Amino acid sequence: MASIGFIGLGNMGLPMALNLLKAGHGVKAFDVNSAALEALAQAGGTPANSATLAAEDTEVVITMLPNGSIVESVYLGEGGLASRATPGRLFIDSSTIDPATTQKVAAALETVGAGFLDAPVSGGIMGAKAGTLCFMVGGPAGVLAKARPVFDCMGKKIIHTGAYGSGQLAKICNNLMAGILMAGTAEALALGAKNGLSPKVLSEVMIGSSGGNFMVEKWNPWPNLMPGVPASNHYNGGFHVKLMVKDLGLAMDCAQQANAAVPLGAVARNLFTLHGSLAEENNVLDMSSIQKLYFADIDNYNEV
Ligand code: NAD
Repeated sequence: MASIGFIGLGNMGLPMALNLLKAGHGVKAFDVNSAALEALAQAGGTPANSATLAAEDTEVVITMLPNGSIVESVYLGEGGLASRATPGRLFIDSSTIDPATTQKVAAALETVGAGFLDAPVSGGIMGAKAGTLCFMVGGPAGVLAKARPVFDCMGKKIIHTGAYGSGQLAKICNNLMAGILMAGTAEALALGAKNGLSPKVLSEVMIGSSGGNFMVEKWNPWPNLMPGVPASNHYNGGFHVKLMVKDLGLAMDCAQQANAAVPLGAVARNLFTLHGSLAEENNVLDMSSIQKLYFADIDNYNEV
């Protein structure tokens, strides 16, 4: 069993750390939020007073932080993780951030002989709790091989995507597609409903036809058509609108750097941004709540 340092015990990080504890690993953790540290301590983890103290004397350090600038300051800031890294220690960043910051962090850790992997995840809070996340892993294959037992405690699919930063790129491309698919699905369902077609029937048609996709089949944005999805729980849980806006923003940055055209992604980003700007609370609803942008009075919709 490994001793693991864990930094960032938020919606994703805490359940991931709890799964490591359940698997018998020792977990020492830091978060700026003391309530999160308390929750970890109750499950048998050890709270630390800083990121560097959480990493001290551990074999593996996992970070699960909100964005690239925080990741950069935690690793590369004064007294940060890179300044105390020792040869042989392995660092895994599972936050979703820009590939350029990832590559800077990787270079700093390589200089001192430490290992690094960028390993962003898909599967959301439910996947983090169930230990069924998909990890997209950038970095040397040999380092991934050593880390695999740790990933296996938190996820069910671990995919090597290539060099440093490629995990981030894969995550960004995936979420670009997810945002476009969700907006497109909501658009089609609203068009049908506004013309008198049942969203339930239309969903069945799409699932059996060329309009079928992950969103209509597994994350249907129309309320109460599918049990267990956020749309059947007033759009609570799931993947927040603000995170989709963030990830589509990362896609826009990558597109700019590579001179790649992403017109559909740009529209999707604007749709989710507009949705979030119409009411502050929309930002913390699941991204399937984009359905409300297309069909404002959805709460009073009655199936005909
Ligand atoms: P979150 O905001 O719930 O958690 C982030 C945690 O980091 C918080 O507990 C916060 O207090 C802590 N933190 C912030 N600054 C810190 C610092 N300097 N030192 C230590 N701790 C610090 O976010 P989340 O939903 O858990 O997401 C984490 C990452 O995973 C993000 O990059 C996000 O894009 C990505 N992600 C999230 C989901 C999801 O469904 N929530 C899914 C896939 C990927």
